[in-house]
Amino acid sequence: MPMDKYSAVWVSHSSMGDFLKCPRCYYLHNVYKSPKTGRKISIVSPALSLGSAVHEVLEALALIQAEKRFEKPLLEKFEKAWVRVSGKRGGFTSEKEEIEAKERAKEMILRVERNREPLAEKTIRIKEGHNGMPPNFFLSEEENIILCGKIDWLIHKPEDDSVHILDFKTGRNEENGESLQLPIYQLLLKKLQKRKVSGASYWYIERDDKPVDVSLPGDEESFERVMSVAIQVKKAREGRNFQCPRGSEGCFDCSPYESIIKGEAEFVGVGEMRQDLYLEMSR
Ligand code: SF4
Repeated sequence: MPMDKYSAVWVSHSSMGDFLKCPRCYYLHNVYKSPKTGRKISIVSPALSLGSAVHEVLEALALIQAEKRFEKPLLEKFEKAWVRVSGKRGGFTSEKEEIEAKERAKEMILRVERNREPLAEKTIRIKEGHNGMPPNFFLSEEENIILCGKIDWLIHKPEDDSVHILDFKTGRNEENGESLQLPIYQLLLKKLQKRKVSGASYWYIERDDKPVDVSLPGDEESFERVMSVAIQVKKAREGRNFQCPRGSEGCFDCSPYESIIKGEAEFVGVGEMRQDLYLEMSR
């Protein structure tokens, strides 16, 4: 029987991250649709907006020939990217808050421009999905699960014709060792291109002048770790089982999404993934 991408369960680093945090968080962000608009819901925040504008500027450089990437000042491009996240739409509740975030973002852009060597090499691109979807493939045809994900930057290493993963980090926290990000990248690269993956680095661009190497898990370990969470997501969806695991103890992780459902968040627009964007009013 031909596989049907519409009936499949799609999983990604962010959706599985939501699920591991809490199944109800996963439900609110990835399954629930507003009864008014029929669209999924998302909370805007200064940290997400900062990350999104910085990534937009840096990732677009990969589309330019290596020797021409820095012909135009990056800050010019950044100013245009910031327009999209300015004001309430970016989760900013005051001018001061926005100025502070914008200054931090500009410093990150300038740091990359000053230390541009990692971005000066040729890059590799992997095939985008259809209809603007990120690159994806069937993680398991039997289970009808599709894995999707976008990798920030792929450096081509001509010495052995391999590919090196580079991931820009705009947050202050280090990536957790339990994160599924690198296993997911391993699997995407193995399936969607032919070169061997020779390494990976994280670049914490708020504090570091160059990327730090991180070790990659093996193919088998990557598959097992990703598949194990993907199956849990699939089972939860089939059984509509998205209960709060902490019962009456509760916690605050889901409160921004719950505030949307209670009508206590402000609608600020429709996002690029056609989701309704809300600003948490109590923040
Ligand atoms: S209170 Fe915490 S554990 Fe419970 S649903 Fe919300 S985020 Fe999940």
